[in-house]
Amino acid sequence: MAAGMTGLGKRDKGKSAVRTCSGSKKDEEEKGEEMGVLKIGGVDCRSLAEQFGTPLYVYDEGRIAEQARAAVENFRSEKFETEVAYASKAFSSKALFRLLSGEGLGLDVVSGGELYGAMEAGVDMKRVYFHGNNKSNEEIEMGLEAGVGYFVVDNVMEVDRLVSAAGGAGKKAKALLRINPGISAHTHEYIMTSKPDSKFGIYIENRAQIEQVMDILDADENIELAGFHSHIGSQIVEAESFEKALGTMIGFLADIKASRGVDGFELSIGGGFGIKYVEEDRPVPLGQMCASLVRYAEEALEKSDVTISKLITEPGRAVVGEAGYTLYTIGDMKKSGDKNYIFVDGGMSDNIRPALYSAEYTCALAEKLTEKPAASYCIAGKNCESGDVLIADAKLPEAKTGDLLVVYSTGAYGYSMASNYNRLGRPAVVFVRDGKARLVIRRETYADQYSLEV
Ligand SMILES: *Cc1c(COP(=O)(O)O)cnc(C)c1O
Repeated sequence: MAAGMTGLGKRDKGKSAVRTCSGSKKDEEEKGEEMGVLKIGGVDCRSLAEQFGTPLYVYDEGRIAEQARAAVENFRSEKFETEVAYASKAFSSKALFRLLSGEGLGLDVVSGGELYGAMEAGVDMKRVYFHGNNKSNEEIEMGLEAGVGYFVVDNVMEVDRLVSAAGGAGKKAKALLRINPGISAHTHEYIMTSKPDSKFGIYIENRAQIEQVMDILDADENIELAGFHSHIGSQIVEAESFEKALGTMIGFLADIKASRGVDGFELSIGGGFGIKYVEEDRPVPLGQMCASLVRYAEEALEKSDVTISKLITEPGRAVVGEAGYTLYTIGDMKKSGDKNYIFVDGGMSDNIRPALYSAEYTCALAEKLTEKPAASYCIAGKNCESGDVLIADAKLPEAKTGDLLVVYSTGAYGYSMASNYNRLGRPAVVFVRDGKARLVIRRETYADQYSLEV
């Protein structure tokens, strides 16, 4: 795998093409670095490792901004309002929330904890969508108090609790009802959310429950049913599944219009856009996906007699995934059976996805990008589980202890799913941009880890 996968590599290549060779020692060094050593956001990975230690999550801020912009600029229509809300569960930090708010995105939260971060970061609460299939009363009250724009409601019991909390607090909010459109997309079972028996939302055929929610909200003064929501799964690389879901939801709106005489709802089509993890992955770029979904919605609406007032999408992974890198230092190595193990200084405690979903990643020796692959390695972590394997079969140049190993595309569901397993301590997070690195989340110390114990 070459650095070319990252987009960063592409930029660097462009730079070296315009540089004229002066033959000075400095230029030679720079050229050497660019050829063989990974730079992220213009910062040499060795200096990142030196300054912040490993394992280290590194985000290319420029790349996050690019993705955010691609989504916002392409998710536009003349026919209805649009909004891109970042799904914060993919990676949440106040610095990121500020960055994305600045780029014009709204925000999805699924818990009081995520909402708290959004409040602290100064996110516009009107643009916050409060998700979750089992919000506690405290979370509902917190959302009402904060003035979140939307509650994405999951079930009848929640609607009852929301209505009564809003009545008690004298607060108003909009609701989107989560519908399970029953679209099966091609992805891992655990990240597929749209089977008829899914725990999320109300199944589209379950008209009785849907009508019940609509009746409760019709009769209520504080919570307005603004529209409907669907989210079919994650790491879906083809547009077709989203188009199917859109078509199904627009058909659903037509039924609702026919049976209840209401039209002009807001419609959220969720997120789940896939990214590139391994060479074979061919995701539709986020901007292109956004543009084609808006066109598809416009055409489908044109053919029906339904209108929508707003179309919402909620990308998480596609905004931050490919912008994130994890740097590890190689420790011991050994041969076991026919496996060549490389042990790194992190593992499933900073990236659970391979163990949880059999997710695949690509890695490289960050200082040997131009060296040819020499061996097959199994990249394992230092957590006490046989399943703590990050990459089962990585073709790499000859590796040695002390080398830096980079795993690409770890920006989504890495830090946010990180744990304290084996008390390794969560790695630090740095943002890099224009040749500068800034610490965003510091490394968890041993003392941090025991700081909650009374
Ligand atoms: C997880 C989730 C998202 C984001 O999914 P990605 O795969 O990260 O884009 C969006 N909306 C809802 C409701 C989700 O649960």
